[in-house]
Amino acid sequence: MIDGCSGSDDALFDIQKVANGVHVAVAARAYKVNCNTALIETDDGVLVVDSHSKPSAARVIVERLRELTPKPVRYVVNTHFHWDHWQGNEAYPQAYGHVEVITNDITREAMVRKSLKRIQDHVRQLPGEIEGLRAQLAAATSADQRAELGSSLRQAEQYLAEVRALRPELPTMAFERTMRILGRDREIHLLFLGRAHTEGDVFVYLPKEKVVVTGDAVIGWTPFMGDGYPQDWPETLRRLEQLDFDRMILGHGQVAGRDWLRTFRSYVEDLVEAVRREVWAGASLEETKERVRDALAPTYEAALTREGGTYRPWRTLVLANIERAYQMVS
Ligand SMILES: [Zn+2]
Repeated sequence: MIDGCSGSDDALFDIQKVANGVHVAVAARAYKVNCNTALIETDDGVLVVDSHSKPSAARVIVERLRELTPKPVRYVVNTHFHWDHWQGNEAYPQAYGHVEVITNDITREAMVRKSLKRIQDHVRQLPGEIEGLRAQLAAATSADQRAELGSSLRQAEQYLAEVRALRPELPTMAFERTMRILGRDREIHLLFLGRAHTEGDVFVYLPKEKVVVTGDAVIGWTPFMGDGYPQDWPETLRRLEQLDFDRMILGHGQVAGRDWLRTFRSYVEDLVEAVRREVWAGASLEETKERVRDALAPTYEAALTREGGTYRPWRTLVLANIERAYQMVS
C-alpha cells in the first residue's frame, strides 16, 4: 500500500506493522530522499524515530499516525545528524505542542557544528541545481525522461521553499551511552554503540518485541560512507549483533532480519580489509577502486543492488565507499 497526501509529490510512505503498537513508515524512492520512520506507541503517547528531510514529509506521517492511534507524539528520536533524518522535526511540536527531541551528545553536537551549516549550503546550492534540472528537462527527448525530470524539478523547488523557511528543531534531551524509556508495557532503549555511519549513531532497541531501529548504520543497499568510519563500523555492528532481536527497522529500505545484518557487516569489513591490502602494497586510489570493486563484486554486487534495483547500483556506489575507506586507512 503506497499512499501519499499533503501536496508533496515525494512524501510517500508504506506503513507496515512490525509488532503490537510498533509500525514503520517505509519511504518510497524520491529525488529528495526521505528516511524511514519508526512509530512506537507507549502507554500515553508515541515515540517517533527520525523525521525526514523536510517538515511536509513529517506532516504526512502525522496524518497517517492519526489513522493508527489517537495518542500524541511525545518523543522524537534522531538517529544521526544527516539532513534526511531530522529536518522535519519542527512538524511534531507544531502538531502536538511540547515534544522532547532526543539524541546522543555526539549527534547533537554534530547538528550544531555541521548540520546548521549544511542547511545554509542547501539554500545556496539549490537554485543552481534547479537551473540544471530545467535545462535537462528542456533537452529531454522521451516522455519518461520528461516525467522523471519534471517530478525531480518539482521536488527540488519544494525542497528549496521548505529549507529556506526551516526552523531547525534541535534535540531538547541528549544522552551519553544509554537512555531507557520504561513504560508499563513497553521498554525502549536508546543506545550508542560506537562510530559507524557517523560519529554518533543511535540505535533504538525494543527488547520485548525483539526489534531494533538502526538508522543508517544498516540500510537496504550500499551504505553512504561520506561521513562514516568504515574501520569502526563492523565492530559497532558486532555490538549490535550481541542484542537479542530478530527484526531491524532500517534507515532506508525494507524491514530486515539478522541475516541481512551479517551480509551488511561483512561487506564493510571486507571492503576495509581489501582497501588496506591495496594501500599497504602502495596502490593508487584509482588502482584500488578498480581492484577492490572487482574483488568484492562476486560476493556483494547482487545482494547490495537487489532492493535498490537499477537506481542504486552497487557497482557505482562502491567506488565512493572505496574512496572513503582509502582516505581513512591512508
Ligand atoms: Zn545518513
